[in-house]
Parts: sequence; structure tokens; C-alpha cells
Amino acid sequence: MKRAILTIDDVPSNNTRAIVDCLNKKDITAVMSAQGDRLERMPENAIYALQHGMILGNHSYSHPNFSALTIEESREEIEKCEEQLERVYKMAGVERKYRPFRFPYGDKGGQNKDALQEFLKQKGFDKLDDSQIPYTWWKESGLDRDIDTLWTFDFAEYNIRQGSDFTLDDVFKRVNDQNPASGAAILADGGYHIILLHAHDETEEMVPEYYRRFIEYLLEHGVTFDRPQFR
Ligand SMILES: [Zn+2]
Repeated sequence: MKRAILTIDDVPSNNTRAIVDCLNKKDITAVMSAQGDRLERMPENAIYALQHGMILGNHSYSHPNFSALTIEESREEIEKCEEQLERVYKMAGVERKYRPFRFPYGDKGGQNKDALQEFLKQKGFDKLDDSQIPYTWWKESGLDRDIDTLWTFDFAEYNIRQGSDFTLDDVFKRVNDQNPASGAAILADGGYHIILLHAHDETEEMVPEYYRRFIEYLLEHGVTFDRPQFR
């Protein structure tokens, strides 16, 4: 068995709607990490995602590196995104049941790490249920206790850019890597993953429907997607 929860970062974008349609066809519910400034500028596709069953989480307002911020600036980034999320859930007419949080770049805030975890707890953020993740490094790094959602597999498809050496082949090399330098092998039996994918229009320009290709490849290779649960 290979099981996974899908997370998609940096929504809303122009291709968010097509991603949602693709996921709906495959009966996959994703946690989408939303940026506050994007929600403010272009709420329509976020509303579409909510009305089609996706869960929106807080991914800060302007996508900074939290280790470069003071604790006050960090709180403000999180709270400003919360305001936008509240607004968008209301506009969508969808009840906001869960409040996941993901740090941009997985940067947990450096010396403010503990204070930020405490803040997330106080603010009522929900932890994605990761109790089925079997990897010892996940627990040894304390990731099983953190409120925010990190990941165990990253497609790294955001490296596919004009002028970059990183290609679609490199993504599939990562998918088939049985002994990755970080994270865990996505196609290994007995795995349980939190998968990271991004809703980037820049990637769409380079590889149309990249998300569909990746998800279908995983499905064809025996990965099943669980509905995200929270605790
Ligand atoms: Zn991001």
C-alpha cells in the first residue's frame, strides 16, 4: 500500500480552477495553502476551490521567510491571511471547519519557532492528522508535534522554469527515486505521504496540466489519496 494526502501550495492562481476540476474528477480532496495577498487580489478561484470541496489553509499573507521576521511581523503575516480566508469562506458560503497552516518554504521561523507553534495553537489552527506517517525521521524531528504541515514528498516541479536545467524528466526521476536524500520514496510500499505540489502559472506555461500528469502517474503506480483529517 502507498497512501498519501495531497497538499497544493500558493493558491489562488489562474490554474487553480483547472486543478480543482482535475481533482474532482479523481475524487481527491486537497489541502490548498493560500496566500493572503493572492486571496485579496483574486478571490474567485479560491471561492471555486471551496465550493468544489477543497480545504483552504493559511500560507501567510505575502509568502516571506519566517526566520527573517520578528515575532510581531510573523503574527501579522498569519493574521492578515486569516482575515482574507474568513472573507473568502464567507463569500463562498462554505463553513470553515479546519484551519491548517503551512510555512512558506517550510521555514518554521528560526529562533521564533517555539513561540510560533504556541501562537498557532492559541489561534486554534488544526494539525493535519499525520499519525499514519511511518518514518522515524518525522518523529525524531518533532514534526509529529508541530501544528504546521510540512511534507514528506516534494515534486519540486517549481524548478521547471525558462532557462533552468530542471525538466519534467527530473520530476519523474524524483518520483522513482527509491532512496531520496530528503523525505521518503513516494513509490515505496508501506509509505504514507504528505505530498507537496504547487499551483504555479509559470509551471503551467512550461508544462500544460503538469499536475494532472503527476497525479495520474501516482495513481497508475498504486498510490491512493486519503481525505485529509485533522486533530
Ligand atoms: Zn508557498
